[in-house]
Amino acid sequence: MYNIPMVDLVGQYNKIKTEVDASIQDILSKASFIGGPYVKQFQENLQSYLNVKHVIPCANGTDALQVAMMALNLQPGDEVITTTFTFIATAEVIALLRLTPVLVDIEKDSYNIDPQAIERAITPKTKAIVPVHIFGQCANMEAILDIAKRHNLYVIEDNAQAIGADYSFSDGSVMKSGTIGTIGCTSFFPSKNLGCYGDGGALFTNDDELADQIRIVVNHGMKTRYYHDYVGVNSRLDAIQAAVLDIKLKHLDEYIAARQYAAAYYDKAFSITDKIITPKKSAFTTHVYHQYVIVLNGVDRAKLMEHLQSKGISCAIYYPVPLHEQKAYQDPRYKKGDFPVSEYLCDNVIALPMHTEFTDEQLEYVTKSVLEFIG
Ligand SMILES: *Cc1c(COP(=O)(O)O)cnc(C)c1O
Repeated sequence: MYNIPMVDLVGQYNKIKTEVDASIQDILSKASFIGGPYVKQFQENLQSYLNVKHVIPCANGTDALQVAMMALNLQPGDEVITTTFTFIATAEVIALLRLTPVLVDIEKDSYNIDPQAIERAITPKTKAIVPVHIFGQCANMEAILDIAKRHNLYVIEDNAQAIGADYSFSDGSVMKSGTIGTIGCTSFFPSKNLGCYGDGGALFTNDDELADQIRIVVNHGMKTRYYHDYVGVNSRLDAIQAAVLDIKLKHLDEYIAARQYAAAYYDKAFSITDKIITPKKSAFTTHVYHQYVIVLNGVDRAKLMEHLQSKGISCAIYYPVPLHEQKAYQDPRYKKGDFPVSEYLCDNVIALPMHTEFTDEQLEYVTKSVLEFIG
């Protein structure tokens, strides 16, 4: 009997422990907890990894999304188009800023926002599109950029699940996810592909003026100390988190490769049954497998989950309820049945353990346990 968690952050920490502990000790001994060299170094190293002009760290991924919308000066009543199949943070900041969320459905294969549905949802009030690169592969950015250009809209990438993914344009050029739209937002929540040991987040942009505005918004709306030209927020990445992230950034490509290895193992094992639909990869993006999410076809999900849990295998549902069916987000414009692809997935998906520390034995145990139930 194994104990297979969704993520193995302890195993990952043990491999980088010496370096992480030394950096944290150094910060403690200098008591330089906010700002300072570790934050600057991480910010610069992430800029070069992503090949983007500006990385602005902040306190978490939800703040990154909120700050992006504030820096773009979106105003109450402005419409923001996003997917109904995502984590709540995306819609939460839209609601908090009194913007109007406009929800659309996803593509059946990639689970990402459907560009045709975006186009249909555009009105004269639309100001921005927020694609979420769900589970670790990019939405169809070429189509989304084309729509944004024709309608003069901002594109805010929610890159919390896809850091490190490569997007290929039809002209052959390649960009890192999160650096393609007007602003990219990410989260360094511990279980994300690049996660710290607490909360953290960042915004990415290639636009110098926008970067300045983002730096003002995250710092209480001030450019000159104690002179507040805007209403801002307080959203910082602290030095300890930055130090951890800078060490883990050096391993990010390795971590991605480990996730891809596990995903390939799962794909192969499940290819023998049509009761499991494995994740389909879009041609224009690499998949960094923040989550490995399968769709069950005629299998009792609750019973399968019980079976896996009884064998010490964790599993989860991302996401059980689409945004338009969430209690706090009830809206007369939307009802159950409006977004059939998202609703179908919410009823039939299950996420299997996915992390950087698997042995083949563990992967074999997970796949065998799933298959023995499915029969
Ligand atoms: C994790 C996540 C966020 C929010 O990040 P936090 O750092 O937890 O605030 C936003 N969007 C998506 C898609 C996420 O997965």
